[in-house]
Amino acid sequence: MAADECNIKVICRVRPLNDSEEKAGSKFVLKFPTDDSINLAGKVYAFDKVFKSNVTQDQVYQTTAKPIVKDVLSGYNGTIFAYGQTSSGKTHTMEGVLGNATLQGIIPRIVGDIFSYIYQMDENLEFHIKVSYFEIYMDKIRDLLDVTKTNLSVHEDKNRVPYVKGATERFVSSPEEVMEVIDEGKANRHVAVTNMNEHSSRSHSVFLINVKQENIETQKKLSGKLYLVDLAGSEKVCIYLFIIHVSKTGAEGAVLDEAKNINKSLSALGNVIAALADGSNYVPYRDSKLTRILQESLGGNARTTMVICCSPASFNEPETKSTLMFGQRAK
Ligand code: ADP
Ligand code: MG
Repeated sequence: MAADECNIKVICRVRPLNDSEEKAGSKFVLKFPTDDSINLAGKVYAFDKVFKSNVTQDQVYQTTAKPIVKDVLSGYNGTIFAYGQTSSGKTHTMEGVLGNATLQGIIPRIVGDIFSYIYQMDENLEFHIKVSYFEIYMDKIRDLLDVTKTNLSVHEDKNRVPYVKGATERFVSSPEEVMEVIDEGKANRHVAVTNMNEHSSRSHSVFLINVKQENIETQKKLSGKLYLVDLAGSEKVCIYLFIIHVSKTGAEGAVLDEAKNINKSLSALGNVIAALADGSNYVPYRDSKLTRILQESLGGNARTTMVICCSPASFNEPETKSTLMFGQRAK
């Protein structure tokens, strides 16, 4: 498929070495032969764009998300997700430092842009924007805007489009309101768990922005959905394979169950993206809750951008290699 026909973009972002890695003597192992390729241990991986560790949050936003915002306002669906091992920069990319104009990530920038477009638009257009916020942990969908909803199910509407039934939807009319909803969801997520870092490494968080518009003169309606997904840490897949490998008797217990679940949903996502990128007739959306939910917003006319987040540290080389290979499957 030619690049301009393919609606899946893969962007690779490398974070800087952090202090503890430097102190521990970890080396910066990645090289950047061109602005769309990356070299790890002599092997070159090509993507739509590669961001070195010094790029700004705004540069990432301009390439990764801004074009999708325009499309969503024209009635297309889209998904942006961040993939990578824990501490590779997924949350920094998706959320960044909320409330900080320079360091905020993709989500707050999208929200700001959606509203500034709307304020500039034709007066005849009426907009209704609603957001939902949930997480998927152990294949259960938990509403982050209503803690009593701990196991939402995926249903299909009359057009056979899957959706999360009963997920709280909040109508919002300003960027500030959206940021309040995000804060509320994040606070709920924190309350339910003892260690947020561990928890976020094991669950996918999904923020959905739904934009409906109607032209009050012509009655023409448009609707676009944008899913913004901060995936569970991909190292769990390796942990899973490792446990399976060392335990010929078949390991049991919570750690294995978690790793197995994450392995299952990330592999399902990888398979869906690979099938879409290959133009394959069969796309296995039904293999996980995550891919079912995203079905209408991945592939087809939908715009999809995957940001694969990499640590540059020699210490993380095996994980980084696995992340680059995951991203490569979509190309
Ligand atoms: P993840 O969500 O993948 O577990 P985080 O986004 O929380 O990882 O990033 C781990 C740490 O590294 C955080 O302290 C974050 O602020 C920092 N970090 C990540 N990416 C960058 C970057 N591009 N530039 C500067 N700091 C970063
Ligand atoms: Mg995170």
